[in-house]
Amino acid sequence: MSARVLVVDDIEANVRLLEARLSAEYFDVISASRGEPALAMAREANPDVILLDVMMPGMDGFEVCRRLKADRATSHIPVVLVTALDGREDRVRGLEAGADDFLTKPINDIHLIARVKSLARLKVVSDELRAREASGARLGVLDQEKSNEARREARADILVVDDNPRQSARVRIALTPDHRVALYNEAGDARVGPDLLIVSLFARTFDGFRVIAKMRSAQPTRHLPVLAITDPGVPERTLRALELGAHDVIDQPIDEEELRARVRTLVKRKRGIDALRATLDAGLEMAVTDQLTGLFNRRFLMTQIEPLVLRASCGGEPLAVMIADIDHFKKINDTYGHDVGDDVLREFAARMASNVRPSDFACRMGGEEFAVVMPNTSGDVGCLAGERLRRQIAGAPFIVAHGAERLDVTVSIGVAASAGADETAESLLKRADEALYQAKRGGRNRVVGKAATRAA
Ligand code: GH3
Ligand code: MG
Ligand code: MG
Repeated sequence: MSARVLVVDDIEANVRLLEARLSAEYFDVISASRGEPALAMAREANPDVILLDVMMPGMDGFEVCRRLKADRATSHIPVVLVTALDGREDRVRGLEAGADDFLTKPINDIHLIARVKSLARLKVVSDELRAREASGARLGVLDQEKSNEARREARADILVVDDNPRQSARVRIALTPDHRVALYNEAGDARVGPDLLIVSLFARTFDGFRVIAKMRSAQPTRHLPVLAITDPGVPERTLRALELGAHDVIDQPIDEEELRARVRTLVKRKRGIDALRATLDAGLEMAVTDQLTGLFNRRFLMTQIEPLVLRASCGGEPLAVMIADIDHFKKINDTYGHDVGDDVLREFAARMASNVRPSDFACRMGGEEFAVVMPNTSGDVGCLAGERLRRQIAGAPFIVAHGAERLDVTVSIGVAASAGADETAESLLKRADEALYQAKRGGRNRVVGKAATRAA
């Protein structure tokens, strides 16, 4: 994976060194030697990770970090602060400023590469979601406010997987009451999945690496953040945990201040990604559904019908479509009002939906016009389905206006089936439309099947 890294350091030699190491791993490196130009670069060059020195003249690393995180254009870019070896206080301050990770000088090569890779990987996921959110927002289907709101809730459910009772008790005390903490050997509430997993790599009764690997490979927990408890004396374990997909590590003995700050950062990031996912799911659902009837909408029908027609025209299974238009619907609106008209549309849709097979797509094309796409269906069978629907509509009155009105409703239906190699979605729908027009002219409340003018 290639990613772009912005290195910010006032000492030229440090920049050169990081540049050499990162370039050797095929990262694309850009650099800045002061806070202000770094902020401008972060906005313009859209780096995947920023390595930020703490000690700089003028604006220091904490301030740069705070500004990056406060700006909507850059807040999603992971920031790794580079601190002095004994910079415990710096680390805590850095996390408060919103930093995502740390490296201590002199920089350990494996830590550098592993962390940059892990952060860049995470950014690919959030970039993809952000892009989809942006296009969803353009379609007008996503609620930006709602997704921001969800991001703010900070209290999390944390599961601690550690068989050292003293250490897990310390973790629990440090994180309560800000969060709800459960230990892995306690009977928990199985209905709520945790927001964060803290795993010890030094357990005697289980293999922490296996726990991390399992979390990464199982679908429901794939995106669950994992914080691994590591030891500075065993760097290869830290590296292994990061490679397996731990999002972050913390050394034992655990510093409570650092633990709280790292947990806060991980939970904030998870909430952000969860909120994006939720709004996207709701947005996608809205983008394919007709709001009045709950059937699919025309846009969705068009995306489904194209590949089916193509398959049929290449000698695959036949495809039939019916277009159904309610008879004299305008009169219903004019006589009983628009709300009763809406009731009729909903009831019509419900009858239609209960009348189609699971493999069919029932859609509202707009107004009082509906369509059903029937894969693997010949024209004859499509006409039978149309006739069944016609009888479902005409056979029993529509009870509307909260039971106050009983209306006799009828529908006219045109059916067409795919034929020949030249068939397109457009030509197929056009024939179904012509058939519908004939049904209307022939007296309404009837089904007309339109054979293709050319034989297959
Ligand atoms: P025909 O038998 O020839 O199909 O006549 P019709 O009256 O059903 O057809 P026409 O196209 O003349 O009128 C359709 C009416 O549907 C006009 C429009 O105001 C109404 N309409 C369209 N969308 C909605 C809606 O969402 N709700 C309601 N209540 N009415 C709608
Ligand atoms: Mg009509
Ligand atoms: Mg009409």
